[in-house]
Amino acid sequence: MQNYKMWIDGKPVDALSGKTYTAVNPATEEEIANVPLGDKADAERAVEAAYKALPNWLEKSRAERSQIMIQIAVALRENAEELINLEIIDHGTPAGIARGMYPQGAHGFEWGAQVSGEMTGDVIPSDANSLMYIRREPVGVSALITPWNFPLLMVLTKLATSLAMGNTCIVKPPSINSLSALKVGEILAKLDIPPGVINFVTGSGSTVGEALVTDPRVGLVAFTGSCETGKRIMELASRTVKRLQLELGGKNPVIVLEDADLDGAVGRGVGSQCFNTGQVCASPGRFYVHEKLYDEFVEKFVAGAKKVVVGNPADPKTSMGPVVSAEHRDKVERHIQSGIEEGAKLVLGGERPTEPPLDKGYYVMPTVFTNVKQNMKIAREEIFGPVACIMEPFSSEDEVIDLANDNTFGLCATVWTKDRAKAIRFANELQAGVIFVNGSSGAGTEFPWGGFKESGIGKEGSKYGLQDYSQVKVVALDISQ
Ligand code: NAP
Repeated sequence: MQNYKMWIDGKPVDALSGKTYTAVNPATEEEIANVPLGDKADAERAVEAAYKALPNWLEKSRAERSQIMIQIAVALRENAEELINLEIIDHGTPAGIARGMYPQGAHGFEWGAQVSGEMTGDVIPSDANSLMYIRREPVGVSALITPWNFPLLMVLTKLATSLAMGNTCIVKPPSINSLSALKVGEILAKLDIPPGVINFVTGSGSTVGEALVTDPRVGLVAFTGSCETGKRIMELASRTVKRLQLELGGKNPVIVLEDADLDGAVGRGVGSQCFNTGQVCASPGRFYVHEKLYDEFVEKFVAGAKKVVVGNPADPKTSMGPVVSAEHRDKVERHIQSGIEEGAKLVLGGERPTEPPLDKGYYVMPTVFTNVKQNMKIAREEIFGPVACIMEPFSSEDEVIDLANDNTFGLCATVWTKDRAKAIRFANELQAGVIFVNGSSGAGTEFPWGGFKESGIGKEGSKYGLQDYSQVKVVALDISQ
């Protein structure tokens, strides 16, 4: 079994305590690697390195920093196969999906190199005796805390954005699947990047994560993860009033109006419910289907879900792999149980596969509930699994807008209609940071991703995301002398 290292100040290091933990392949339950179990002292080492690296990094011109970003993109493309393989064995991402999504991570650095130059300041109109201008500056040391659902992409996206804006970085990847992040550390250590600019520390969120969030030398915490952890981070970060960018959970409504393209809505619905085994912040959380289409929608949805190929993610024929861990499978199964107990109608799945080869590995089969009521737990909480909640049928547009907005989350929402005016009305009235109409999709570096309400603060990607990783300074000069 390979022993992975953390990367601090440009060097490979073990945890100061010498402790490690074991990474497990969720498709086979085999132990695949040892990972350093860092703690507070390791987080402090990383902050020290990032803090010390800051003056030198700030002295570099944007052009120099952009060249480093391009070098990173090239190195990531050269090492694609190894990183893709880690996504498959450490997370359970189906090979085709891992391969298809990979370029987005590398492209983030090319994009960052290009657009950071456009993030300029401004001159403020003033009288003849004054010059007032705005500088956009880095925040300083950034802690980038990422979730397990897209282990590599989340790390690369935050790293590219933070570096583009001139910050030094400490990446705290998810404990459950940190191998690809640590491999990135190894790849980057071979490049001409000043030591300490990029650091990787592993260990639990409650020790390493909290040490980063409370350290006064850290200026920005960019966090993607659960709402619960996001709230904890807000509390802790408030002690030193840190800049925060929070990308949290969702319980995203998908609304299928009477005039919708039914087959399109079903196809897209099944695909996105099962994509990454439902472990996606943007997964459909609640399907609201007009009463006139309801029965046909359910029938076609179940037929589509039955066709999803569940299997070992390394097999190119697989479209859906396992969930990430035994613990997470238990959580998804508790949600399914609560749906049954609260009276939703289970029309597909719900049971753990028992036949080989799926009897090993953390598999959850595509599961479909219908007639889900608004107050049920499965309608209110994020399940993060391949479990579709088709709500009770609706009849009026006003009613469905209220139902869709009746949730603490506000990440994204989808509406299916052939009527553009209706689409725009729904887009205006739905309380979510991202609105999809008729199966359009959006992601990637140019797309400002981020939610309303308890789904978070700020955006990832685009110039809006870059703004969240930087700060504005105004300078006022008396030029009368
Ligand atoms: P999580 O449990 O909140 O963990 C996310 C990260 O935070 C991990 O690195 C974790 O470390 C760390 N952490 C945990 N407790 C911490 C603490 N007290 N202080 C500082 N850091 C701490 O989330 P997850 O289960 O990995 O990810 C799934 C969630 O992420 C879902 O809710 C999903 O919707 C959300 N998500 C949102 C977006 C978006 O763009 N809005 C995208 C992807 C995922 P450990 O791994 O060591 O616990």
